[in-house]
Order: sequence, then C-alpha cells, then structure tokens
Amino acid sequence: MDISVVIPLYNEEESLPELYAWIERVMTENHFTFEVIFVNDGSTDHSWQVIEDLQEKHKQVKGIKFRRNYGKSPALYCGFERAQGNVVITMDADLQDSPDEIPELYRMIVSDGYDLVSGYKQKRYDPLSKTIPTKLFNATARKVSGIKNLHDFNCGLKAYRKEVVKSIEVYGEMHRYIPYLAKNAGFDKIGEKVVHHQARKYGKTKFGLDRFVNGYLDLISLWFLSRFGLKPMHVFGLMGTLMFIIGFILVIVVGASKLYAMHHGLGYRLVTDSPYFYIALTTMLMGTQFFLAGFLGELISRNSPERNNYQIEKEI
Ligand code: UDP
Ligand code: MG
Repeated sequence: MDISVVIPLYNEEESLPELYAWIERVMTENHFTFEVIFVNDGSTDHSWQVIEDLQEKHKQVKGIKFRRNYGKSPALYCGFERAQGNVVITMDADLQDSPDEIPELYRMIVSDGYDLVSGYKQKRYDPLSKTIPTKLFNATARKVSGIKNLHDFNCGLKAYRKEVVKSIEVYGEMHRYIPYLAKNAGFDKIGEKVVHHQARKYGKTKFGLDRFVNGYLDLISLWFLSRFGLKPMHVFGLMGTLMFIIGFILVIVVGASKLYAMHHGLGYRLVTDSPYFYIALTTMLMGTQFFLAGFLGELISRNSPERNNYQIEKEI
C-alpha cells in the first residue's frame, strides 16, 4: 500500500464526509493505493456514526474509537500503530489542511529521500492571538531541537516514511514535537513544504492558549530527556558535587577565620552571625539533594525499558 492517512479527530462530524471525499478524489487521480485511518478521540457528537457510515461504503476507511478523550498525541500513536502504507500522512480533520498536498508530500518522501516532511502554513487563517505566540514557539523549538529548517513544528499536515512512525512513540502532548522525536530516533532528513491553510469551516478549535505554556514545558522535558534521559547522574551529580564543594569551602573559611581571630585576640562573633554560614549551609544541603536526585534518576533509568532500545538500521 502506498499511503496511510491518519486523522485524529474530536467532535468533527460535519467535516468528515467532505474530507474523505476530497482525499479519495486526490488518491484516485494520482493512482495511489491508500487507507484512511480515522481515530475518534472520544467525540461526544456523531463523529463515530459518520465514520461507520463511511466505512460501509468504502473499504479504504478504517476507524479506531477511543472510549474517552485522550488527546491528539494518543490518537496519533494508535493511528501510527495501525498504519500499513509506505508513506504515512497525518492531517487534521477540520479541513484546515488540504488533501491536494498529498501527492507532492509523497513524492518528497519517496523520490527526494526525506524521512519526514512537515507542512508549513506560511499564510495562516487563524486569529492573531494564535499566530504571534506560534512564531515564538517555533523559534524556541528550532533552537532547542537543533532542527533549524522548520518553521512550523506543530503543523497537523505531515508526511513520514513508514519506519519513522514505527520507531517513535508520541505520548502526552508531544505531537507538537514529532520532528524532534524523529530526530532523536536518528531520522535526520527532515524537510518542509509550504502548504495551503484554510480557516476552520465547521466546529471550533480544541486547543486554547494553555497550549503555549504546556508546549514550553514539554519542550524542556524533551530536551532534558534527549540529553540526560539515560544518564541523569551526569547533570545532577555534577551540580551536586560543585555545590557541595563550594559550600564546604565556605564552611572552612567561616570556621578558620573565627579560629584565627580567637587565636590572635581579635574581636570575633558567633559563626551563626555570619551570612556566609547560612550560604554555606544551604549550598551543601542543596548539593546533597541534587546528588540524591541523580542517584534516584540512575536507579529509575536502570529499570527503564528504554535503556537498551536502539534504532538499528541494518545488519548483515
Ligand atoms: N483533536 C483530537 N483530540 C483532542 C483535540 C484535538 O483528536 O483532544 C484533533 C482535532 O479534532 C483536529 C486536530 O486534532 O482534527 C487539530 O485540532 P484543532 O483543529 O482544534 O487545532 P488547531 O488547528 O486549532 O491547532
Ligand atoms: Mg485546526
């Protein structure tokens, strides 16, 4: 099979028939063999009914129904598990992404050899309150992930080589950073294609402004995981040791200067009157805490199923 289209959806009943008809038209015109996997993320409207109706009429339609709303990332994860096509395309269900982009995305994966191609909604039809923070979000993501050529990490329209979706694990709200996940899994031919974008025709957006706060926290977690995920002691141990040493030196200085003053008959005060004493105390305590955190991290990562999970490309 050439293409699997994975569509996560939450309360998008009005768009689905139109979206499927459009995808089918594009696929037929280009002679692709394909499947469309609708992942119904616990919709409370009639989306599932619509998917069942579509499935009865078209054998290319497949559906997954969650018992409750889990979020876009879990929906993508399950769609990826099920996908069988050589190229996997994801798109939103709200008709904001155009299926007309599919043939070119497919060509970029198959002929140009990209592992992942992300859409870039250069001209967006979203409110300003969304587009401006988005710019900032993408600039940060570019810096942290080191994928310098992407302008639109969170674009719902993306194309993947099959191995990519089978090797990465999208969870939580990590769908915003799939290119980063792919890069961490060793797929570094990541490209971009400018895509058309339309205003939402039916329904309303499922994400509010909290997406930027959560997105920022997720980015920090990913960065940390990719750098120190399997060697937490390397960060915490270093910070802990440094702080402990600083604190220890300070204690010596505070104690020694008092002894010196006593010995030479100079005026002296209680050690606890010196601000340095408290600084030294705090630094040593924090150092010990960091060190412990590092140890605990090591114990956890020793038991992690990820610890020996490598992406082997070839073996002969
Ligand atoms: N979506 C989902 N589960 C959720 C929230 C959203 O499957 O909990 C789907 C939604 O139905 C749509 C896609 O994710 O197909 C993108 O959502 P939306 O269009 O609301 O996001 P925006 O375009 O505003 O970024
Ligand atoms: Mg949308």
